Amino acid sequence: MKNTKSVCVFCGASNAVPKKFLDIGAEFGRMLAAKGITLVYGGGDCGVMGAVANSTMKHGGHVTGVFPVSLRNIENEHQSLSEIIIVDTMHERKMCMFERSDAIIVFPGGFGTMDETFEILTWKQLKLHHKPIVIFNYEHYWDPLIALMKSIVDTGFARPETAGYYVVVDQVAAILEVLNF
Ligand code: AMP
Repeated sequence: MKNTKSVCVFCGASNAVPKKFLDIGAEFGRMLAAKGITLVYGGGDCGVMGAVANSTMKHGGHVTGVFPVSLRNIENEHQSLSEIIIVDTMHERKMCMFERSDAIIVFPGGFGTMDETFEILTWKQLKLHHKPIVIFNYEHYWDPLIALMKSIVDTGFARPETAGYYVVVDQVAAILEVLNF
């Protein structure tokens, strides 16, 4: 088993969000660097994605970005990461990020973040992996989604054990604690 832990962070690429979302991303990047945990993420340079990556790098951490060629006319890949992996498609990106990480962390984000989150959750539902998934419900951002997920289980559209496939935390310090990292 490798010694260095790595976490995949799914999060928003938009800069048009309140600054506190970027700040909490930066705070988490600092924590990753301090603990020597590798950040694996989508390789972009903006939004919460850029904030986590920049802060991890700034504090001496290791960052692997996975960026699809097809995204180049929509988003920019980060130019100064420890490692950047250029892939052909969004699907390859998701698989590559998954393969390189020991746990998945969901920060506030938009539709892309939700797509990534539900793919990883449904892979777990299909028993394709057993990696921990932590949803960081910063300032109740994900409350509506968590309520919907509970309703899905309560109504019978997902098995009750599905609710155990992810952990929700509301403090940034709790993310690595629940992972025992
Ligand atoms: P967003 O949460 O919409 O800001 O997107 C966060 C990241 O997810 C961005 O890097 C997007 O390029 C990426 N993304 C958007 N759509 C998808 C998708 N269908 N599959 C995988 N990643 C996506």
